[in-house]
Amino acid sequence: MKKFKWVSTLLTAALATSLLSACGAGQTQTQPAQPSQEAPKADAAPAGPQEVNVYTARHYEVDDKLFEEFKAQTGITVNVVKGKADELTERLKREGNSSPADLFITVDGGALNNAEEMFQPMESETLNSQVPAQFKDPENLWVGISTRARVIVYAKDRVKPEQLSTYEDLATEAWKGKVLVRSSSSTYNQSLLASFIELNGEEQTTEWAKGIVGNMARDPEGGDRDQMKAIVAGQGDVGISNTYYVGLMHVSKDPEEVKVAEQIGVFFPNQETTGTHVNISGAGLLKSSKNKENAIKLVEFLTSKEAQTIAANENFEFPVNAEAELPDLLKGWGSFKAQELDYSALATNNKKATEIMNQVGWK
Ligand code: FE
Repeated sequence: MKKFKWVSTLLTAALATSLLSACGAGQTQTQPAQPSQEAPKADAAPAGPQEVNVYTARHYEVDDKLFEEFKAQTGITVNVVKGKADELTERLKREGNSSPADLFITVDGGALNNAEEMFQPMESETLNSQVPAQFKDPENLWVGISTRARVIVYAKDRVKPEQLSTYEDLATEAWKGKVLVRSSSSTYNQSLLASFIELNGEEQTTEWAKGIVGNMARDPEGGDRDQMKAIVAGQGDVGISNTYYVGLMHVSKDPEEVKVAEQIGVFFPNQETTGTHVNISGAGLLKSSKNKENAIKLVEFLTSKEAQTIAANENFEFPVNAEAELPDLLKGWGSFKAQELDYSALATNNKKATEIMNQVGWK
């Protein structure tokens, strides 16, 4: 198996340094290395590619852990390149057919749709049984691996859940100077507005954004966690955050973050109307993939009950596989009504969403 190891090492180095021309060496469509003299016996793992190359825009520790677990179970090494979704998309386009990447993994349905032209369908009975249709591209060009809700978070000591209702309500006089939310450069906010454009139209979305900017407790700064820290510090009473950040702070190594999480309530807005905004993380198989079978195996693993349970318990995202076991925190939040919209709307409306935020002075 020496040869496999060599190819794998070479590829890892090449990925790290972007010396991509070296990657194709010795590779064919399905076999990156010729079986060596020490080819495995019939009862050993089958000969064939023993790696999969992933470009990922996800930034969560649990992903690395799952890639390691996949390797432990299958012997397939996962080589990872991390970056921002738009940068990786551009890179994949530039690399074209010579890209070493097999899979592109990213958060945001809009980002997945923007990359769709580079994907090929993933045909797999296992995926069909593990991932319901609402969490997949209709042609299986990408498959969801987790979802997250963008909710209202609030100071438990100052706000009663009865005072909360909708995203729209956060833009009213009642919350003047009390709203905390991150900047308009965040994809999370861009997709939130893109969903509103789809559901409520541009005019109403512009009015909402104007109202939010008028109610901000401070100019946007930091990430979702920082909004919750500011709420607990008394800078404002309510904020907008992805659910999993609340979970991550609950189990943080930083005792201050744990304290913050304990004082923050989670409210799923728009339950009587359009539903809470939910976004998706997913994986697409690149047309240029040289390790197609391994790539599909990895997505099958990531959407398995086992991996989905680990991800839900450690990253607090919602699983796409209904069999996954939820941690108490997620169970405690209960079920909720999510927006009903096609994730492609997040891509289609992204530009308009950004324009609206610029127009109303959302920094
Ligand atoms: Fe995040």
